[in-house]
Amino acid sequence: MTTQVENFPGWPEGVQGPELIDNMKKQAARFGADFQLAHLNAVDLNVNPFRLQTSAGEIPARTLIVASGASARWLGLPSEQALIGHGVSSCATCDGFFFRGKEVAVVGGGDSAMEEALFLTRFASKITLLHRRPGFRASKIMLERVMAHTKIELRTNVVIEEVLGVEEKEVKGVRLRDVANGTKSILPISGLFLGIGHEPNTKMFSGQIDLDGDGYIRTTGNVLVTRNGVVVPGLFACGDVQDRRYRQAITAAGSGCMAALEAEKFLEEHGH
Ligand code: NDP
Repeated sequence: MTTQVENFPGWPEGVQGPELIDNMKKQAARFGADFQLAHLNAVDLNVNPFRLQTSAGEIPARTLIVASGASARWLGLPSEQALIGHGVSSCATCDGFFFRGKEVAVVGGGDSAMEEALFLTRFASKITLLHRRPGFRASKIMLERVMAHTKIELRTNVVIEEVLGVEEKEVKGVRLRDVANGTKSILPISGLFLGIGHEPNTKMFSGQIDLDGDGYIRTTGNVLVTRNGVVVPGLFACGDVQDRRYRQAITAAGSGCMAALEAEKFLEEHGH
């Protein structure tokens, strides 16, 4: 979903997300990778070979690398969805650069929102942090940093009713409602950043492997997946589905490499 990627090593001028992926695919194909597009409907990880029920039929697999990622949480407003990539973003690290000298807003009251707001101070002229409650979930130190920053203004007890600019195809502002007294107001901004958390895409694995309290895959030895604390032979996970901290294309690519090396070693050790 990312368009311009500015922080992948080796691309000094940046690269478009789809172009980066296309190049990676070509490179893997040169070494014999076979690609098959299918939707995964169900998995059985209690047997080896694992059984994958997909839209293209059943696929048996002696090794499986789960790289299903995490999806940003969205507010769910139609105007927000219409403006994703046109001023609405869930990743300040990816898109903050485009808002140099502009006024933006960040939604959320946790550490992600604080981090996004602080990161955006490098580019934006003003950041308004919008939170639906008076209290914050964020750690004290992050909140203090945000409160002390002259470029950041906090507005609590507000929810976004609509993102303005759908017709113009660029964010022009947000319509806010004060939850305490119902007052509506318009905040003119050029960018809206969602900092309301992520959800790992692990529903179909639940009950078969160890997940943490928020559904991220627990790994040991970097990329080995466990069930009741015991490593599941041949099963690996990499990228955002097991990483809630870094969430960068390059760190995901790095853990993908680790998983691939482990899978190869596993197959070799088992004589395949
Ligand atoms: P959190 O779940 O902690 O916070 C999400 C925030 O978004 C909450 O304030 C919540 O409001 C708000 N929210 C959720 N849904 C909506 C909605 N529909 N409309 C408006 N607001 C909404 O997620 P984070 O991603 O911030 O953090 C997840 C974990 O990662 C935490 O443990 C955090 O400490 C950690 N983290 C640490 C960082 C660091 O140390 N540098 C950086 C980023 C994350 P409400 O409070 O009302 O529920």
